[in-house]
Amino acid sequence: MPKKLIHLNKVSYQYEQTEALKDINVSIEEGDFLAIIGPNGSGKSTLLKIILGLLKPTEGEVFLFGEPANLFKEREWIGYVSQKSNSFNTGFPATVEEVVRSGFAKKTGLFHRYPKSIQAKVKYALKSVGMDMHAKKNIGDLSGGQQQRVFIARALISDPKVLILDEPTVGIDSENVRTFYHMLGHLNREHKITIVLVTHDVDAVSKSISHVACLNRTIHFHGFKNDMDSMSDEQLEAWYGHSVRKVNHQKEVQK
Ligand code: ADP
Ligand code: MG
Repeated sequence: MPKKLIHLNKVSYQYEQTEALKDINVSIEEGDFLAIIGPNGSGKSTLLKIILGLLKPTEGEVFLFGEPANLFKEREWIGYVSQKSNSFNTGFPATVEEVVRSGFAKKTGLFHRYPKSIQAKVKYALKSVGMDMHAKKNIGDLSGGQQQRVFIARALISDPKVLILDEPTVGIDSENVRTFYHMLGHLNREHKITIVLVTHDVDAVSKSISHVACLNRTIHFHGFKNDMDSMSDEQLEAWYGHSVRKVNHQKEVQK
């Protein structure tokens, strides 16, 4: 049986004025590459923050690696790259490799210097996101897209089993977006990292992912990406307000 790494049972979340999530049931299994898609304000970032324990559900339960989230201790098993990390303060005085190494801060705090194996891991993580040649540069001198790849390398440094990314391609130019998702697909298949991603790049991401969740306060579909085609026009309309299928067809015509 595949292992359930993340399980949400009837989760709702209420901000003061807004009910952002209602009655969410989601299971994410080991090896999944899940794309969460939905219009702006549909609760995508809120859902990720609930999984990460940054927000506590108003109702319902969260299980991580089979344990109730409040008892789950292995936080480094879940890597996170937030929506805001690519608007990094350009005056920040740190090199790329220092930023990546800081992902280790907790574990190495007592020793004040990093063992050789960590240097090798920093190099490997940077290489896996195609940034090894920029290791000595100042993080502030990189483009938004390059900074984002450095933050992914930083998340990879503690060998997470799950990587969670919130709209990671904002700031990456369109020709590099496919390469970026190809890189994530590689991490998923070859490095066996389960990936949960919020994105608007439905076309560009579709080759890499295994599963899709369509969210708009509630889950309108969650399953294998190919089964999404079985959603009726009514279901699509209820989810997005207009037919996504039509949007995709228009894109095809424009190509
Ligand atoms: P998405 O990531 O899909 O754009 P969010 O999860 O950020 O959506 O937001 C879902 C809803 O909750 C939106 O209506 C948003 O305005 C509201 N919301 C998000 N964050 C807060 C907050 N910190 N305080 C109050 N309302 C919020
Ligand atoms: Mg968001």
